[in-house]
Amino acid sequence: MSSRIKLAALTPAPLLDEPMPLERALKWIATTETRIKLAAEIFFAQSAYRKCVAHATRDLEHEVGGVLVGEACTDSARGKTYIRIEDILPALFTDSSETHVTFTQNTLVHLNNQLLDLFPGKRMVGWYHTHPRFGVFLSGHDAWIQRHFFNDAAHVALVIDPYYHTAGFFGWQANQVLDTARYVGFYEWSDLSDESIVEWHNPAPVVADWSVDASERGSR
Ligand SMILES: [Zn+2]
Repeated sequence: MSSRIKLAALTPAPLLDEPMPLERALKWIATTETRIKLAAEIFFAQSAYRKCVAHATRDLEHEVGGVLVGEACTDSARGKTYIRIEDILPALFTDSSETHVTFTQNTLVHLNNQLLDLFPGKRMVGWYHTHPRFGVFLSGHDAWIQRHFFNDAAHVALVIDPYYHTAGFFGWQANQVLDTARYVGFYEWSDLSDESIVEWHNPAPVVADWSVDASERGSR
């Protein structure tokens, strides 16, 4: 009975209706994302990014992981859904011999209790885990975890290769399509610094400089 009560807290609350924080964000795009359209845009706070990278690089031999904590929002003026990743909760995996990350119902109940204690009012917006030296993709088991535990339209999966400093977000597209090979970048949300702190090699920043665009247009 108690586990049923705890799991009830996983039921999503209504989305917040707030504008996307675009004026404080730098967009990073992955080369694979031209053919991907996720249900939600992703805003990754620098403070959460920093914690995530610190956890991911702590072990270059074994996979580590956890959940992404924040808000799921709608920007009704733009007609867009987005998530804000504001913090992380590293997961402790009971079987230390595991070479790959597994989430069980117990793992999630434990993480959900931590969420309620440490981040009241926030929600899980996805999960992250590492693939040391073997690249950015979702394995069959990863896809299973996404389907079983992170099946809300806005839930994302972040895969990090801490050895090669690469990473990407996977998530739900229309009609519950989950591409396990192609991933997207994110908006770096500046909550620490106006300077970028992203160290990953595979996404590229989109530098939108309107003054350059305008002067080029004017000169032709
Ligand atoms: Zn994996």
